[in-house]
Amino acid sequence: MNILIFGPNGSGKGTQGAIVQKKYGVPHIETGVIFRQNISKKTPLGEKAKAFIDRGELVPDDITIPMILDRLKEDDCKKGWLLDGFPRNLAQAEALWAALEKEKISLDYVIEIDLDREIAKKRIMGRRLCKTDNNHPNNIHIDAIKPAEKDGKVVCRVCGCEEMSARADDQDAAAIDKRHGIYYDTKTGTLAAVNYFKARTKIIAVDGSVPVKEVTDDILKKLV
Ligand code: AMP
Repeated sequence: MNILIFGPNGSGKGTQGAIVQKKYGVPHIETGVIFRQNISKKTPLGEKAKAFIDRGELVPDDITIPMILDRLKEDDCKKGWLLDGFPRNLAQAEALWAALEKEKISLDYVIEIDLDREIAKKRIMGRRLCKTDNNHPNNIHIDAIKPAEKDGKVVCRVCGCEEMSARADDQDAAAIDKRHGIYYDTKTGTLAAVNYFKARTKIIAVDGSVPVKEVTDDILKKLV
């Protein structure tokens, strides 16, 4: 099962992606996570990507496209994959489509989570990361996934981890606006990539403004 998931930063794409990943037992490949792992390990890739990420800009295509196309060739991707955060622009969409066509790999589902830009921004600023597992959803602005409290301290609602942090780029309003500018750009940005796939395959569109569980139910209902 090969799936793409789209949604602006703040739409709950990571949360929903983790659920879809579990349903199909395929690797959840998140470009942002791969970059952050490389940055924390201080790899050459991480060193190259860091400045762009810190500015809220896309890492250049000549770094990102081969990184993802190589990742899809790894053994665990033989049973399928869920790509999250890629493609992020029209050029990446075209490169992915060409690579899939060349390898005769089908795209089974393209999921698009729709969300108003202002709501997405507020949600990003409320996002908190758990040190034990970045996939544990915590957000101080979303009731359903509010972090828990222990002895007056904010702790992860999933595992109780006390080491909770906010990503620096999540607290930078200008960087968020830049990232959203890229996402909502229908000419060459991420919505241009979504439209590119709309012309080629069936898209599963869901409303991201409703509570997390309703978004999940909607996605699972449409993933037949
Ligand atoms: P994310 O965790 O998806 O918000 O990604 C964090 C940052 O990583 C983004 O703001 C970009 O700087 C970079 N990034 C993630 N995915 C891509 C991509 N497909 N192409 C270029 N840069 C990316």
